[in-house]
Amino acid sequence: MRAPTTGFTTRFAPAPTGVLHLGHAVNALWVWGLARRYGGRVLLRIEDHDRGRCRPAYEQGILDDLDWLGLVPDGLTTTDFRAGPVPQRQSDDTARYATRLAELEGHSLVYPCTCSRAEIARAADATAGGELVYPGTCRGQGPGGRGQGLRVIMSGDAPERFDDLRLGPQAQDPMTQCGDLLVRDRHGHWTYQFAVTVDDWEQGIDLVIRGEDLLPSTGRQLRLARLLGRTTPPAFLHHPLLRHPDGRKLSKSSGDTGLAELRAAGWTPAQVLGLAAQLSGRQGTSAPLEVAGIADVFDDLSDPL
Ligand code: GLU
Ligand code: ZN
Repeated sequence: MRAPTTGFTTRFAPAPTGVLHLGHAVNALWVWGLARRYGGRVLLRIEDHDRGRCRPAYEQGILDDLDWLGLVPDGLTTTDFRAGPVPQRQSDDTARYATRLAELEGHSLVYPCTCSRAEIARAADATAGGELVYPGTCRGQGPGGRGQGLRVIMSGDAPERFDDLRLGPQAQDPMTQCGDLLVRDRHGHWTYQFAVTVDDWEQGIDLVIRGEDLLPSTGRQLRLARLLGRTTPPAFLHHPLLRHPDGRKLSKSSGDTGLAELRAAGWTPAQVLGLAAQLSGRQGTSAPLEVAGIADVFDDLSDPL
């Protein structure tokens, strides 16, 4: 694994659609650990683009859990963090997304899509990695009737290439992975792919640190960012997901253990961080890891465990 360039800005970006669990603790360990070790800044972004599934109680739970772990976003004191409105909540200013989209519309890259998921499943001529590839049904049709779905034309001459700090050189072709990208859904909600791309750009994120499950999203986010006008793309580091000490994938239930649940059962923050470090391959045992020591597990960047 290569070290990030000092002075980077990264983010922790949970969605308030559920409680934080061990998988989030792993991501937080990588985000804050690398930032503390290699001189980076961490922004907290509440990714509440999916308005139908977000709950204020989950957002509060995220703040409580981070506070308990001792992981404080940069630029905020613990006190500010607990008191004020959370900065960088996506829903705080959704007009930004419409403004960015207008840029793409100006280049005739956007078209309405009225397809339901079931219709796409019937029409799709391919699935890539379990994903439906949108076959472009509505491309070339005029403004649609029902719904507010919008897609962006993703055609390109060459695959998107990037050099993941941990996984090395990657090449992804969004057209064969997913087809034209849905940027607003039929209910008028901005999608994860669009919102995250706009936010990473506008917030000056130049290193994205996230789990390997999101690796297939990276090429399309890079392409979208370029179409939007971002000239300097961020760097990426995709970390391992939770895995059992003996290499097996953790069962859904243990991977889903809520941090609040662990706290109630008497776990300490250091025990949770120690387990997260073990389960994502940063230390050989689940020995407690104090928050003050999270930089240390990133001293040696080889992937030994
Ligand atoms: N909000 C996403 C999640 O909770 C993270 C997105 C990202 O890191 O790009 O899975
Ligand atoms: Zn369609």
